[in-house]
Amino acid sequence: MEDCIFCKIIKGEIPANKVYEDEEVLAFHDINPAAPIHILVIPKKHISMLTDLKEEDERLIGKIYTTINKIAEKEGFKEAGYRVIANCGKDSGQEVMHIHFHILGGKVLGDKIVG
Ligand code: 5GP
Ligand code: ZN
Repeated sequence: MEDCIFCKIIKGEIPANKVYEDEEVLAFHDINPAAPIHILVIPKKHISMLTDLKEEDERLIGKIYTTINKIAEKEGFKEAGYRVIANCGKDSGQEVMHIHFHILGGKVLGDKIVG
């Protein structure tokens, strides 16, 4: 997708601090971290919103969660735990229209999911 900032990161047109990459999935540090650990995990396939997911994407979304496990292991926060958040649409405040999964951790996050 031409004007998509995350597609530009995938293509290497915009730099990012990458933590994981394979043929289908990319993970990089959020530019404006909301917690000591704040990593974004994205599919390389451009999908604008979670509501655009199709049955054919089910394997890919499952892979994102197993990739998150690998990242947690590699980055050393698997034992401590973390939170995964994916925003969808206007009420969630989704800013970047390429689906992404926030991994948040590195501190006790508190009991509120909704900020
Ligand atoms: P959203 O609100 O859409 O769920 O989250 C978008 C996230 O992308 C935000 O946390 C924001 O800081 C991050 N972000 C936006 N532009 C860039 C960028 O160019 N590079 C990186 N690494 N993160 C970005
Ligand atoms: Zn995109």
